[in-house]
Amino acid sequence: MSERRLPGIDVTPLSGVGTVVWYRPDADLSEPPAPEDVDAEAEREAFELAVAEAEAELEAERERTAERVGEDEAAVFDAHVQFLNDPQIASGVEERITDGLPAAHAVRETFDEFVEQFSGMEGKMAERADDLRDVRDRLLRLLTDGERVDLASLPEGSVVLAERLTPSDTAQLDPERVAGFATVTGGRTSHAAIFARSLAIPAVVGVGEDLESVADGETVVVDGRSGDVVLDPDEATVEAARGGAADDVVEEAVTTADGTDVEVAANVGTPQELAPAAERGADGVGLFRTEFLFIERDDAPDEDEQYAAYRDAIETFPDGRVVVRTLDVGGDKPVPYLDLPEEENPFLGERGIRRSLGPDSDLFETQLRALLRADADTDVGSLAVMLPLVTTVEEVEAARGVLEGVVADLAAEGVDATMPEFGVMIETPAAALMADVLVEHVDFFSIGTNDLAQYVMAAERGNDAVAELGDFRQPAVLRAIDATTTAAEGTDVWVGMCGEMAGDPRLTELLVGLGLRELSMSALTVPDVKARVSETTLEDAEALAERALAAADRDEIIELLEQS
Ligand code: PEP
Ligand code: MG
Repeated sequence: MSERRLPGIDVTPLSGVGTVVWYRPDADLSEPPAPEDVDAEAEREAFELAVAEAEAELEAERERTAERVGEDEAAVFDAHVQFLNDPQIASGVEERITDGLPAAHAVRETFDEFVEQFSGMEGKMAERADDLRDVRDRLLRLLTDGERVDLASLPEGSVVLAERLTPSDTAQLDPERVAGFATVTGGRTSHAAIFARSLAIPAVVGVGEDLESVADGETVVVDGRSGDVVLDPDEATVEAARGGAADDVVEEAVTTADGTDVEVAANVGTPQELAPAAERGADGVGLFRTEFLFIERDDAPDEDEQYAAYRDAIETFPDGRVVVRTLDVGGDKPVPYLDLPEEENPFLGERGIRRSLGPDSDLFETQLRALLRADADTDVGSLAVMLPLVTTVEEVEAARGVLEGVVADLAAEGVDATMPEFGVMIETPAAALMADVLVEHVDFFSIGTNDLAQYVMAAERGNDAVAELGDFRQPAVLRAIDATTTAAEGTDVWVGMCGEMAGDPRLTELLVGLGLRELSMSALTVPDVKARVSETTLEDAEALAERALAAADRDEIIELLEQS
């Protein structure tokens, strides 16, 4: 029998082969009894007990996830505890119990009402619906004595198939035992996808109802590169999947086959991610998202705490460059203690450099002091400071003024501080259009395609409904990248890319051809991208870029990429 492919959305560039285990959390309830047969007091107590037990479970899972996956990912369990203790949800459940429903049915109805509300919203809010379902199913299991399917101790070589996987489900998966997972629903930015990347588990999401046709016990391949679930896989597909996860780490810097240097660096958010990035062969850090040092806490980290984090980064990569982006809050990155304004369009409001030169100017100075001290004390000289969300030359010059002021202050205090490399993110159409002017004011550009694509295409990042429009392979996005690299041609300014686009190995040749000489990405794809750089020649890459820039639409670009 020849193999059959069920297409879905690729989530991790890894493949795995294994035996199907369907995961169906049992949340079905029978018809409720008549109201007069329900003991409301007993049901109320049962609900309170279930909430207390659920909270204890969540605490334990939070701790486990923080240890195995990371603090940022563990934060999702805080949101679950909030839902668990939400007064509106609690009173919804209690009212229904008073009206004669058993606790389990009251939980189901109340949560489903909120799930429906959140599902109707856009972007991040829609993702909260998954969190609500997760909390609902946890409570239902506790209220109905349901057996919990133990995802943590599945037989080795299992491929988990499910309608959807919640964050708690995914966090339980043991990458040593699970060969991969695939889900009926879900998108690239769903929690299950994010966890899969952090845990390096082959995964495909959003396969649709066809996935239901696959039976327990079948052998399948989860091809995280093509985004397919492969049924009755051929020998060659199985072999490729077996070898797929073991991509060779390349420790040394790479060049194209004809000798052009291309730096392949890692994006990190916390010091914990530094060592794993070095182990995957990253040449340095192309984007340190420092806002992760500021979130999920009650106040800002002080100068010394930041100093330790930045010093750690510089010391982890003694031979590579470390690009630290100054605080980028606002937009979709809220920080409660910073008192961010309520805005109709937060992506177009006070975010990134706008806040650092405005209400957060003290934080900005503290951050620059910590950075320059770490740079001076490590004496490696590899620090590069990068500004987020730049739109005008004035912003760049104002920020440079602050930076020079901090260098002078530190020098007066006896610290051997010097001006670091100084650059900007190109992540707004304004910056791409002004790149030929900005180039006179900086040492480097790093293209942030996550924001650049959303602003160029007027398609909100993370909003599945406009995902095709916001795709990096849109000709308008390629033209904005080209405007940036062309502006820097013949100057000493280097151009890198740190948006998600840089981490897709299928786009490496195109990006090299467009003139990118540094690519920074999640550590997971560093080996793959290094391999792709070494395989291509500059000549082929430039020819591909030229054809892609002449394309009229996204389909044409996709076709070109498939042929290359
Ligand atoms: C980007 O916008 O591409 C980027 C790298 O920044 P962030 O994803 O942190 O907004
Ligand atoms: Mg950005």
